[in-house]
Formats: sequence, C-alpha cells, structure tokens
Amino acid sequence: MDMSQLFRHSLLLVSLCCCLSAKAATDIELQYLKDAYPATIQDVSSKAINWQDGSSMPVSGSNSFFSKISRFFRRNDAMEAGISIRDLQCDSYEPFFKKMYGGSLSSVRKNLVTVYWMPKVFGKRYPLLITTVNGVDKKIQRISAELEKLPPSYYKFLDHPGGSFYWRNVKNEKYLSAHSFGIAMDINSHYGSYWLWDREKSRNTGVKLAYHNNIPMKIVEIFEQEGFLWGGRWYFYDTMHFEYRPELFTHLPGIGLAYHNQLGQRCEV
Ligand SMILES: [Zn+2]
Repeated sequence: MDMSQLFRHSLLLVSLCCCLSAKAATDIELQYLKDAYPATIQDVSSKAINWQDGSSMPVSGSNSFFSKISRFFRRNDAMEAGISIRDLQCDSYEPFFKKMYGGSLSSVRKNLVTVYWMPKVFGKRYPLLITTVNGVDKKIQRISAELEKLPPSYYKFLDHPGGSFYWRNVKNEKYLSAHSFGIAMDINSHYGSYWLWDREKSRNTGVKLAYHNNIPMKIVEIFEQEGFLWGGRWYFYDTMHFEYRPELFTHLPGIGLAYHNQLGQRCEV
C-alpha cells in the first residue's frame, strides 16, 4: 500500500467512524428522552415515541418534535446548517407537551395540585398550581424545601413569585407557554430580566440591548438539580422563569456544556 492508498484508507476509516459516532449519538439521544420521562414514556424507537398508555407518536419528518430536539443536542451542527438559536429555543414541542400533560385547559387542570411555596418562610401565602404528571409537584416541593435552607438574603428573589399555571401563549408567539402545562414557575419578577422588557428600554434610551441577570446562581443550581431549565440560559433571556425540561439536561460529554455556555450571550435584536 503506497502513501496515497494509505491516506485514502485513513480517510475512509475516519468518515466511517464519524458516521458510526453520529448514529450512536442519535441512539443515545433517543434513549435519553425515554430516561428523562420514565413515568410517561415507555419506549422510543427511531420511528415513534411509545407512551405508557399504549399510544404512540411518530417522530420521523423534518418538523417532528424529535428532529427539533436532536438539533438542540447537536448545537454545532445546527449552527452550520443555519438553524438559529431562536429556532432551537423557541420551538414549543406543543404536541409532545399536550400528550404528556393534557391537550386542553380542562385536561391539564385535572392533573394540577396546590404546592405551597417555601411555607416555612412565607407560610401559606403562595399556593402554586403544579402538575402531578412526571412528579413535577414533588420536584417543586423539594426545590422549595432546599431554597428554605438558604440564608435569608436570598429570600427577596423568591418572595412574591410571579406565578405558575396559566393557560396562555408565549408573548407575541402562536404557541403555548410551558406555564400552560403546570410545569413552569416564575420567581420574583422584580428581580427578573426579560429580553422584551429590555428591548423596550433600549428603544427608549438608545442603550444597546445586552444580556444581564440579577438572580443568584445558587438559586438556579437548586432548580437545575431537579431538571428545571432556567430562562436565564436562553439567548432570549427570561431570568425569573423555570420550567421542567429534563430532556435538555444530559450527561453526554460536551453537550450539557454547550447548553450552559449560552449564559452571557448577547441578545442582538
Ligand atoms: Zn415564566
């Protein structure tokens, strides 16, 4: 084998390895979706999500929930393909959430319970409506109990929570907010930063819009430990907002990091 043959064989081997690793990553991602929601998803194949109730949802097709979530996981590929951060973060996966948590206001309501927010600190002042699906109510209770252990200097961020269940679309968008499914809550909006509010301010003052955040990372960490995504990590930031999205937390090397590296990005709109 001469040098050019060796080179061609090496190339072939490298491209084969790339294909295999891409395939393996896809299988791991599918598996991860199942692992993230064991109470509601029984099994995931390359063609469908099979739910615990015996029904299944196709995942093929370019606009499917799964293809979008795959793109999220492969953020760098997505960038090269020209998919914007907004595409990745603002896709609502509405059919998936409707199947999981309820397809209408009344069917979501059937799964809601009241969780008192930090009752040792605030008494019964703040009842939150949270879904029992996937044990999200229990997770909020654990988060609440952990936050109560923080020094009192943190309480101002957690007092007067902005709310939980609310059947509504995302502001200026055509899809339902995570608040509609009882899986989201806002902490004190007084200390929150929201890109749309900042855009208003920047229009009035001429000051360039830039990411900023006042919420202590200790609070964020407590939510993230229970699989809640923080709106402060979005490019279009909403730093008072948390929603239960365990599928976006992964232990795959480099992927969790890509998600976390969004913090501090500028929002040029
Ligand atoms: Zn919110």
